[in-house]
Parts: sequence; C-alpha cells; structure tokens
Amino acid sequence: MKLVVLKEYGRVERVQQSIVKVSGFSFCALGGLVKFGYGTLGLIVGFKEDEAAVLLLKEKEKIRRGDKAFSCVDEEFKIGVGESYLGRAVSALGEPLDGKGAIKPQNYYPLFGEAASVLERVPINEVFETGIKIIDMLIPLGCGQRELIAGDRVTGKTSIATDTILHQKDKGMVCIYCFIGKTERDLSKVIELFKEGGAFDYTIVVAASAAVTAGQQYIVPYAAASLGEYFMDQGRKVLVVFDDLTKHAWIWRQISLLLERFPGRDAYPGDIFYIHSQLMERAAKLSPEMGGGAMTFLPIAQTIDGDITGYIPSNLISMTDGQIYLAAPLFYEGFRPAVDLGLSVSRIGNKIQWPAIRELAAGLRLEYLQYRQAEQLTKMNARLSEEVEIRLKKGRLLCELLKQEIHSPVSLSEQVVLFYAYRKGCWDNLSLEKAQADRIEIFERMQRRDPQLIKEIEDKKELTAEIKMKLDNILKDFGNP
Ligand code: ATP
Ligand code: MG
Repeated sequence: MKLVVLKEYGRVERVQQSIVKVSGFSFCALGGLVKFGYGTLGLIVGFKEDEAAVLLLKEKEKIRRGDKAFSCVDEEFKIGVGESYLGRAVSALGEPLDGKGAIKPQNYYPLFGEAASVLERVPINEVFETGIKIIDMLIPLGCGQRELIAGDRVTGKTSIATDTILHQKDKGMVCIYCFIGKTERDLSKVIELFKEGGAFDYTIVVAASAAVTAGQQYIVPYAAASLGEYFMDQGRKVLVVFDDLTKHAWIWRQISLLLERFPGRDAYPGDIFYIHSQLMERAAKLSPEMGGGAMTFLPIAQTIDGDITGYIPSNLISMTDGQIYLAAPLFYEGFRPAVDLGLSVSRIGNKIQWPAIRELAAGLRLEYLQYRQAEQLTKMNARLSEEVEIRLKKGRLLCELLKQEIHSPVSLSEQVVLFYAYRKGCWDNLSLEKAQADRIEIFERMQRRDPQLIKEIEDKKELTAEIKMKLDNILKDFGNP
C-alpha cells in the first residue's frame, strides 16, 4: 500500500465550457487526473508555463474562478476493471448506468495504457468467427486483428458489429461494446438487443452518449480498451467494438478548438492521427508466456457520400489491418450486409482461414465482381452471349448466398456446407426461390441423416475425402427443379 501520495494544489482561473484553466501546478503531465472536490473530475490535456488546461470529465458542482484543484502528481489516471463489469452497462469512468448497484473492481488499469511490445506479441494464428458469411468467407478476420467497418449513415455498420457480438455466445469470448457520442435512443436499442439475445453474460457496454460531457466522450474508447486489456491479460479472447470513431474525432476537434490549437486538415487537430493510432495499437495477440490472450478491435467510421478517402476513414484504414466497406447503393438494392467486395480487404485473416474455407472461397471474390460487371451490361441492353448469361445466373445465386438477414448468424461449418453445395453446382438449374428453400432444407436433412457431420467439419476444419463423400451423399438429390 502506498503511504505517501504527492498532491499539488492549484487554483481555477477560467472556465470555458468543458475546459478549466488552472494555475499553480508546478508539475504537470498530460493525461493526469485533477480533482476539484465534490467528486468533480478533470483530465490534463495541455499546459503552458503558468497554466494547465483541464478537460472536465464529471461536474458535480458548478466550478467557479478561485476554486481549489488538486492533481495526483505521481499517480496515473486509472479505471476499475474486472470480471464484475461483465453484464453491465457503465460510463467512461466505470460507473454503472444500468441502475444495478455499485461495481467492485478486481483491479485498476491505466486509462492510457501502453500497447503490448513486439516481444510480448505473436503473429495472429486463430480465426475470429463473425457468423456473417460474406465476412468469414471473403474478408476473414483473426483474433487480435483490427478491422475497420466504414460506410455512410444507416448502411448497417452497427448491425455487423452487434451481430458479431451476438454470435460469440458460448465461445468464451469477452465482448466490449463502446458507444461514443450518439443518442441515448441508439444506446438503449443496443442494450435491448443484447438483453434479448442473451449477450450480456459475456458483454460489457461502455458508453458515453452525446448527453454526457465532452471529456467522457473523449476518454470512453480508452476505458473500453483498458477493460479489454484486463481480460486479455487473463489469457482470454476479447472483442472491442468502437461505435464510432468519427464521433470521437468530432469531439476531439471541439475540445481542440476550445484549447485554441491550430486546426489542420478538415479542421481536425493535427494529433487526431496519433490519438487514434495509439488506441488501435492496443489490440494484440499475446505470446504464450504472456498468457496467450487476444484483443480484436472493430472500430466503426462513418463516411460521407461514400467517400472512403475522407480524412478520418482513411486515417483509420492506414492504422488497421483491413476494412469492411458498406456501400449505400448496395444497401438500398437489398444486398445486405451491403459489403462492397471491391473495396473491402482483410490483410491478415486469410492466412489463418480454415483450409476448407480457403478452398471454397478461392476465386469467389473474382466471380462475384465479374458478375457485377456483367450485370452492368444487362442494364445497357447489350446482346449477351450465352457464356455471360450463364455467369449472370450463377452470379445471382452467389449474391443470394452472400446475403444475410440481420440477427441470423451462420457458423463456419454451416458456411462450409453451403458453399460446398454452391461450388458443386447444386442449385444451378433451380430458380432463386427454389434454391433458397433448398438451402434451408440441407441442414434439416443433415440433422436427420448425419447429425455428427457439422461437428466433424468443425473439428477437422478441412474438406477431407471422407467429409466430401459424406457431403456428396447428402447433397446428391438436391437441386432437382
Ligand atoms: P447509423 O449511421 O445510424 O449508425 P448504421 O450504419 O450503424 O447506422 P444500422 O443501425 O446497423 O446502420 O442499420 C440500419 C438499419 O438497417 C437498421 O434498421 C437495421 O435493422 C437494418 N439492417 C442492417 N443490416 C441488415 C441486414 N443484414 N438485413 C436487413 N436489415 C438490415
Ligand atoms: Mg450505427
């Protein structure tokens, strides 16, 4: 136990919205905690020789000029972490938002924790199953990867993240959903969804809606990362969703304007790149000596008019291991999840995909993109060769197969079965509706004839001759018109 805590007293000079200028601190560190009494808290975000700029996090009593402030000089800003946060919705400061009583932390972790070093990491070696076919097949993720979800307003960004969380049930994953700067209504929708889907057993919601202080909206992603680090250090697998970082950038822009810092590109402060990259660095796959835990990040960014080259999205693209780009035209056309396969990539996951999925996914993206091209031709009323007609038909089938309703996850082994049937040409002679009905029936028939097969695929992870034979057997009388 620490016996001596160094504290320094200062005096409030000015209050400018969420920034308080304090004089009298002889020692100051960025990211330090400042207390004003009555439970009012602030964070040091800048200083000059005679004055520190403190960002208000929680204001219990109105602060006035002349009030006392004290900073804990030798103490980092830490927040409570631990198992007891599971199943709870908390604020950026770890305080309960769900009215279920106080939370007793198991430990305290620094808010601006340092990312694991190179020596503490190992290459990503385990697939991260999202349960979303188009992602698992064509943009596969690994545990410890950072994958940006970008797209215009209302294109299904949040749904991809929340469906991924819902799919982690009974998989031993700890999920953290970090909610930044949106309305309370959006937040209660997500909380409701998690409650209904039974996701709260393994999920923490860390939220700072637009109604709370700018300070809390700024620190909330760091709090989520610190909570995640605790579980990662316990050797657990963690998923953290940041919904969304464009809002986070907006908040930092507002704060920086109050701090009178020079605006840079798109009026964002110059350090926004540093701020986000420092956060993204905290995702990791730890070495066995460090417990072997992994923390996967799914940051979300909003684009404007489909411009993926916007400042914040392109920054984030450069500091993540790939992006899932959701296109509004696809969303309106009914191709949902509206993933634009031309612009979406995963730079890590495909190296560790199940061999079965790698085999089935080979060439699929090209097939899809060629179909999209051929589809353009039909719009021009061009005369189509027979070859193009066939490609169109097959492409439509592929499109249907890649579509997925919201909240209807498909496990990796089920994906193997579906795409195996597609590759075998099972549905080539059917109408789309009939093919759709057939697809549902496959699993019913598997359940009846060979209930172990799904488990076997999951264990083997590859298409052995034996599995292929069994699949062929089940599929043989499918596809009859
Ligand atoms: P915002 O910009 O407001 O954050 P968003 O991009 O996060 O929006 P969502 O809130 O996830 O988008 O989804 C928008 C709407 O689209 C929701 O009503 C959701 O139900 C619907 N939706 C999302 N994905 C699908 C899907 N795969 N199938 C059918 N509907 C979907
Ligand atoms: Mg959203």
